Amino acid sequence: MRAGGRLTYHACVAVIDTLGRPLRSLRLSVTDRCNLRCHYCMPEDEYLWLPREDLLTFEEILELANLFAEAGVDRIRLTGGEPLLRRNLPDLVAGLAARPWLRDLALTTNGVLLADAATALRDAGLHRVTVSLDTLRRDRFQRLTRIDALPQVLAGIDAARRAGFEGLKLDSVITRGDNDDELVELLDYARAVDAEVRFIEYMDVGGATKWRPEAVVSRTEILARLTDRFGAIMPLPGRDSAPAERFQLPDGLTFGIIASTTQPFCGACDRARLTADGVFLLCLYAQHGTDLRRPLRAPAPADTLRRLIAAVWEGRADRGAEERLPVRERGNYIPLRMLKKDAHLEMHTRGG
Ligand code: SAM
Repeated sequence: MRAGGRLTYHACVAVIDTLGRPLRSLRLSVTDRCNLRCHYCMPEDEYLWLPREDLLTFEEILELANLFAEAGVDRIRLTGGEPLLRRNLPDLVAGLAARPWLRDLALTTNGVLLADAATALRDAGLHRVTVSLDTLRRDRFQRLTRIDALPQVLAGIDAARRAGFEGLKLDSVITRGDNDDELVELLDYARAVDAEVRFIEYMDVGGATKWRPEAVVSRTEILARLTDRFGAIMPLPGRDSAPAERFQLPDGLTFGIIASTTQPFCGACDRARLTADGVFLLCLYAQHGTDLRRPLRAPAPADTLRRLIAAVWEGRADRGAEERLPVRERGNYIPLRMLKKDAHLEMHTRGG
């Protein structure tokens, strides 16, 4: 492997960055809008939205996806904002699913609109669904998201199963005093719906304007609490570049932990991000990105865009979560006044 060059991997040439990390996976945000106001992501009353005319069309997204594939991407996750707010999303899914280079096509959703969309998404060729679910208590859901929508989310999970999605994942951001008393309930629910929970540490990303270290429930603490309750927990091998470490309870139930805050895994990060208006980001913590919309619409020749994507990744040295680790007196990462000026700094714009 050569740093800042190219690497042949899975029969396809992947561009690699300055730290030797190949470009394999693309998080595609299809909208910055969301129908929930989760306390760790969109706690403010007002937001600056991306201008509608700036949003990439599906044709533009497909064109860029092909160019990213030539740089090594073979896995795509659709995200947002809330991706199911994007009209005709199954059309985009069908367009992506038809690409011969695509090995994995997943969606991260809050589930509120999933009940009506699950079958169409499955028919369009979506491979996998992850639903964000932080609580099973309706009043708590409303308090943490400012919307009374837990029944819709649970119906969405049910619909996803009936539509035939296997390997359903449930992502739960655990925050102290909010839902850290629900670890066991969330595991029991996952068992009942044949899903796998991934407990996510609260991150101090842009958007998390109320973040404070005391609110983080660490991987270590989660494991200690579950060990107290269930007995010895076994780590499972085979993580590769996946953000979640997987574990097994003595009764065989598996779950994951994404310890981005206390034990970041930047060394294995192969993820590029593309915002709904075409900004290419190298890290969830990146403060700047590369605008691909402008050259795409110019229109620049495909080769120019191809070279731009490769050059940006080859220059990548980002390891945002690891760089945050030694910071003392850690508070929220991006000051509110900066977030109010640049929507691209928000978590809901860049996708989780
Ligand atoms: N709306 C979709 C959803 O709710 O899954 C997709 C976008 S959301 C930004 C993607 C993921 O980011 C969700 O699982 C959410 O819980 C996670 N997330 C947002 N802010 C976070 C934070 N401060 N710390 C950890 N995870 C966060």
